[in-house]
Amino acid sequence: MVFKCQEDSFLKHYTAKVVSCTKANNGFEIILKDTILFPEGGGQPSDHGWLNDHEVKNVVRKGAEAIHFVEVDQVPLQAGELVHQKLDWERRFDHMQQHSGQHLITAIFDREFGFSTKSWWLGTEDSYVDLDTKDVTKEQMETVENICNQLVVDCTAVSVKVYQPDDPALKTGALRTRGLPDDVSGPLRVVTIDGIESNMCCGTHVKNLAQLQAIKLLGVEKAKNKCLVHFIVGNRILRKLNECYEREIQFNNLLNGGPSSHVDLIKKLQTTVKAVQKTSKKLIAELAFQEAEKFTALSDKPRFYCLHRLDGASSDFINTFLRNAKQPDCFFFLTNGDDSGKGQLLLQGKPDDIATLGDAICKMLDGKGSGKGSLYNAKVNKLKEVWRCQKLIEEHFKAEISESETRSK
Ligand SMILES: [Zn+2]
Repeated sequence: MVFKCQEDSFLKHYTAKVVSCTKANNGFEIILKDTILFPEGGGQPSDHGWLNDHEVKNVVRKGAEAIHFVEVDQVPLQAGELVHQKLDWERRFDHMQQHSGQHLITAIFDREFGFSTKSWWLGTEDSYVDLDTKDVTKEQMETVENICNQLVVDCTAVSVKVYQPDDPALKTGALRTRGLPDDVSGPLRVVTIDGIESNMCCGTHVKNLAQLQAIKLLGVEKAKNKCLVHFIVGNRILRKLNECYEREIQFNNLLNGGPSSHVDLIKKLQTTVKAVQKTSKKLIAELAFQEAEKFTALSDKPRFYCLHRLDGASSDFINTFLRNAKQPDCFFFLTNGDDSGKGQLLLQGKPDDIATLGDAICKMLDGKGSGKGSLYNAKVNKLKEVWRCQKLIEEHFKAEISESETRSK
């Protein structure tokens, strides 16, 4: 097979003969005489594209062949027929920018600071190189970024030369073997950034660093035995800048201030929120205490007591109330929630009453919880049904009261 994608990275349409089309999981695997769709390799993900009207979402390298996956039920192509290949150019050019940018970033970190690249990753949002060092300083990042962008401005040429595997030039040490798949066969491709480096690579590259537009190093992420320098190249910088700008406009409106004041305004907001939360917690505790006092002061102690509040989903009110409402024989039905109907349920009473009423009340309030002994706790979703639960409780205790009245007569 000839990889047309490697001979000419800028080819977007091509016609080639079908060599084979075989059934596979969820579709068919197609091999062509030559292809412009790049199979994954050298750290670069595979191209997307079309074979006639059939969408190709994955191409993999198997020895000297590229296998194109087409997800269809019916046989899409016959061996021997000519097929029109179309490349998803936007995706390919993006990969060429990130991939060629990685060559450059790797070369400059190596040349300037002796940090070699252990591996790299081309992601959907950003990419990174994993450098063989413990840390990279801000100044080192700036130096590399500046040199890379100057080489872009200088329109530095990028060229590809194909060598036979036994070519003595490959053994001079000037050509490196990083990123080359083990099962690659036939001629070897050497990618050269003029005056910077030569590197064996099977990927697709730009012809000139000017096509990278710009390089932005985003930051250093340190993990166990890893030092990842995240970066974006070319159109991704424009996309990122656009996202940041749109977010900035939203922040301007939300915070009622320009970008230079955003951090201060958010810090101020956080301080205010913390103070309000502290006050609110104190007020809720005081309120719960008052409610408990009111209950304790009742001369005729009720058999059951219901209290519902809409102060939010926190259980602070309920807990403070129960701690202070001293009445071991009373059955308490307490809820606290918000306008959406979500909240906390707490039942306290004699174990027999909890066992009889707990699950039924929890179900009526569309909750999830459980009871043990004299307590029942649940998170509920339908607080508007509390009146039904109250009715159930009233009936339960009415029966008990009339029973004891009958007994005492
Ligand atoms: Zn490459």
